[in-house]
Amino acid sequence: MKVVVIGLDGACWDPILPYINKGELPGYAQFWKNGLHGSLLSTIPYLTQPAWKSYSLGKNPGKTGVYHWTRIDWKEFKFRSLNSLSFHGDDYWDILSEKGHRVSIIDMPSTFPPDKVNGVMISGMNHGDGPWTYPEDFEKQIPSSFVKDGIHLFRRNQDPEVTMDGIESEIKSRFEMAMQLWDADLIHLSVEMNDHVAHFMWNNDHIMYRNFRANDEGIQKILKENKEGYTILMSDHGNGPIEDEFYTNEFLAKEGFLSLKESDSKGVSRESIVNFGTKLRLDRVVNKLPNSIQNRIVKRIRLIDSVMESDPEKRINWKESRVIALDEGLLYINPMYQEEKEQIIDELTKKLSSLKSKSGKSVIKNILRGNEVYWGPYVSDGPDLVAISNEIYHQRLPLSGYLWASDIPEESWGYRFPQVGHHRIKGILGMVGPGIGPREVNASIYDLAPTILKLFGCEIPDDMDGKPII
Ligand SMILES: [Zn+2]
Repeated sequence: MKVVVIGLDGACWDPILPYINKGELPGYAQFWKNGLHGSLLSTIPYLTQPAWKSYSLGKNPGKTGVYHWTRIDWKEFKFRSLNSLSFHGDDYWDILSEKGHRVSIIDMPSTFPPDKVNGVMISGMNHGDGPWTYPEDFEKQIPSSFVKDGIHLFRRNQDPEVTMDGIESEIKSRFEMAMQLWDADLIHLSVEMNDHVAHFMWNNDHIMYRNFRANDEGIQKILKENKEGYTILMSDHGNGPIEDEFYTNEFLAKEGFLSLKESDSKGVSRESIVNFGTKLRLDRVVNKLPNSIQNRIVKRIRLIDSVMESDPEKRINWKESRVIALDEGLLYINPMYQEEKEQIIDELTKKLSSLKSKSGKSVIKNILRGNEVYWGPYVSDGPDLVAISNEIYHQRLPLSGYLWASDIPEESWGYRFPQVGHHRIKGILGMVGPGIGPREVNASIYDLAPTILKLFGCEIPDDMDGKPII
């Protein structure tokens, strides 16, 4: 028996259904019309790194220990990057590997450094130094069409149709890799670029359609090859249109919860950055370079990419700051102010509840304590408060000098573009296979690991938070 999981980062049914209703996108339509289908509720925050691993571990962040891309180190006063080694527990494919099932894991975000599995793992973003595949020498078998990450950034400023050409070939390469690694009992492939299209091109119907079609072609191929087995379509979270982006740490500074030093950053114009990349033809040459040089270039591109924003780490007066925010309203109270914690929470809750956007709408829709959202042994590593946004506002961690992205003058934007779409809690779910008929389901992201383990007849660990959907 074979199980194939097609993981489309940031996918949801809403923008796809009108096409299915017109008789298009036959791959997606097979799940919608003939299989289990519905929303897949993500975790909180519905962010790529914690959400993907909540899928593979079947647990909430209170048990995985990871809530974001970074964690706040209050002892050393730093933001620490997290990677696959930061998570607690076994992925469901570790359990399958132990039972002798072969697995192929392709490009799932948050799997760097790669894990030893009974098969192959090609780790997904964010990559650091060191081997990015298991076994290490599998890298030699990866075709140059399978771009590792980040390289597409230099294509963004051109015609969106050109950007989409690059994205289409990246999508195709993920499905082709699934075919290259077809000889396994479990195949998981992630298509990260799906999320990128939603963030930056949600308002461009033609690009959105090209993206759906590119994925649909891959889905059709998988369904054709996997007639006897089970195929699951899922995402780490959904997406939807946004009105603006909100800089939470700027807000905390303005309201006196966060203390900042003066900025000494110098602006770089967007033109100079684009010219730099275009002149070097980085997008074309980078994936032919040795791995270590690729990593350095990708890091550099990331810095350039967010030139109008700055990392708060060096600008925070750590000892004088009572609250720091990560993205999506994860609010952490400085342990040095532990005695004032309840008072800080009260004050902050009042300010956030009454916060209005430039168009007069509430910015925050719900404020909860960390222990109301999470459960498990690592709740204390999580945020003290979670301020969940009105879904049309995305909360950002960096500093920009402005409360709202729409206030930033155009000449100050670096290579980063304002986002037009951002994450929603409801992702996509579809499942076809032997004995499965059309039925609507509403499942959570924690349910998929138990579901897949059940398909293989493996015992479901007691501490998984989900339950099988079949
Ligand atoms: Zn994502």
